[in-house]
Amino acid sequence: MNGYIGKLLWVDLTESKIEIKDLDEKLAKKYLGGNGLACRMLYDMVDKDTDPLGEENVLIVMTGPLTGTFGPCVGKYAICAKSPLTDIWGESNSGGKFGPELKYAGFDGIVFTGKAPKPVYLFVKDGKAELRDAKKVWGKEVTKTQEKILKELKDEKIKIAAIGPAGENLVKYACVINDFGRAAGRTGMGAVMGSKNLKAIAVRGRGGIAVANSNKLLKDGTKALDSVKSSFVTQMFGSLGTSGYWDYAATLGDLSFKYFTEGSWDDASKISGSALAETVLVNHASCFACPISCGRVVNVKEGDYKTKGVVKGTEYETLGSFGAALLVNDVEAIQKANEICDEIGVDTISAGVTIAYAYYLYDKGVLKKEDVGFELKWGDIDPALKLLELIAKREGFGDILAEGSYRMAEKFKQPFDEVAAVNKMEVPFHDPRAFFGMALVYATSWRGACHMTADNYQTDLGQPQIELGIIPGDRQTLEGKAASVASLQDYRSLYGAAIMCNFSFPPAEEMANLFSDVIGNKYKIDDLKVLGERLVNLKRVFNIKMGLTSENDKLPAILLEPLDGGTEGKVPDMDILLKEYYDHRNWDPETGKPNKEKLEELGLDEFIDDVWGSDK
Ligand code: SF4
Repeated sequence: MNGYIGKLLWVDLTESKIEIKDLDEKLAKKYLGGNGLACRMLYDMVDKDTDPLGEENVLIVMTGPLTGTFGPCVGKYAICAKSPLTDIWGESNSGGKFGPELKYAGFDGIVFTGKAPKPVYLFVKDGKAELRDAKKVWGKEVTKTQEKILKELKDEKIKIAAIGPAGENLVKYACVINDFGRAAGRTGMGAVMGSKNLKAIAVRGRGGIAVANSNKLLKDGTKALDSVKSSFVTQMFGSLGTSGYWDYAATLGDLSFKYFTEGSWDDASKISGSALAETVLVNHASCFACPISCGRVVNVKEGDYKTKGVVKGTEYETLGSFGAALLVNDVEAIQKANEICDEIGVDTISAGVTIAYAYYLYDKGVLKKEDVGFELKWGDIDPALKLLELIAKREGFGDILAEGSYRMAEKFKQPFDEVAAVNKMEVPFHDPRAFFGMALVYATSWRGACHMTADNYQTDLGQPQIELGIIPGDRQTLEGKAASVASLQDYRSLYGAAIMCNFSFPPAEEMANLFSDVIGNKYKIDDLKVLGERLVNLKRVFNIKMGLTSENDKLPAILLEPLDGGTEGKVPDMDILLKEYYDHRNWDPETGKPNKEKLEELGLDEFIDDVWGSDK
């Protein structure tokens, strides 16, 4: 199987039993790999009643056909399960070198079922795997865990994906960190690992990956790399990281402040990518085969927020969640929050936004000092840092925050319309009032509010793929948005299955060539479109099985309040956007279910009965 190893590891944690099974070639061709293939596999294994943190949930680590081959940013892997944060489809992906190493070790992916009787980690090496006692690392932070496992296995080249104390303590937005700082951040996959007593996965391989046409891949991969190298995004993210966009985002109103309630903030530029570069930046970091190098490496040498030496630097979203949302104007303080999040193992977006919601409730008088244990004041990060430690241990007020902002609102009987979350996942920092397409992206994303499932802000800032229907428009008009967003969602689904980093955006024809060279079929641009659309509909079908309806496709009112600043008081009309979106997708306007003809057209006939039952 070109592009694939053709083998999966199945690990029954309850019985400590490991089997090697063949990858289902037909499924792989149809759903590609990564989170696409994982979704199709998981569909048969979980349902609406599955407790995401119960033994019955299934965790799948999956690479894609491009992972570890040749081309721009092809170093990613996906980690998927029913999400404990959202109760629907959960997926997260991460870069570094873990994904390629898993393939070199002889496997496309790993399926974990059950729950280990005591903490373990999985060691995979050159076609073999074993479960090992994790007693020595249980309770340890992420870096310590990785260091200790490396020492125990005596091979510095091993790549490790691990959870921190937050994952062990089932914090609903716990993440998985691999390669010292690369995070599979969203949807709580770290908590699923913790619920299975699985502390880490260590991989080492020296094998190769067969591709259909290696000479052509060398040529086409080089061309795609050159395209990516010459893009504006590469220049900006390479020199300033993802926060290179910060100042422009603030000007456009793409960043909002004080828990999404204000459109401007005088101190915004104090925590920009340039501010980071001028103060604590010491280097850049790259994932496998990446010409962009968006990763930051920093060192805060002294003061209250001194880091533990050289550590991974803050990215745009974390500046948003611990800076913009809390009105904290100190880069070093935000860097400290970032470092703590990475060590305890939590998603910086959900953690920061949940904490910001607590500040918001405190400001409103709903929360009191007696509830929290100390005061919460806008602009003061120290309480947030304390809260992070409490969240990781689920101690005191941290136990409530560990459930995420939606469940916190439930606990304090607060209106959900004031919770900046969609399908229980906290929103990132691309404001739907600044880019109306992002309103649709958040409302219809298959994993809760997510900017990576379709980065429409990039489209409307001038990053089109016309042949794919990804067409830029005025950022605050409705015209053409539904079609452009749907096309981008389709294309990004393909990225999540291939797997490739979103920041790498070569022309579609070059992408099709990479697929052809690696897998072997002759892929045309239209084939990519069909594949992507199939994946979006598959995840929709999965979520319908989990109980999702059109009622879930909405934004909370707090994100639709007019603001001053770059959005100039404009807000999107969600009814019009959603109507056009359902029409475009051929989804039923009332239920939001994909119509029967659409499922047939995409080769998803097998789900028609599940989706429609006796309705049609
Ligand atoms: S752009 Fe950044 S996240 Fe993407 S592959 Fe490169 S270093 Fe990794």
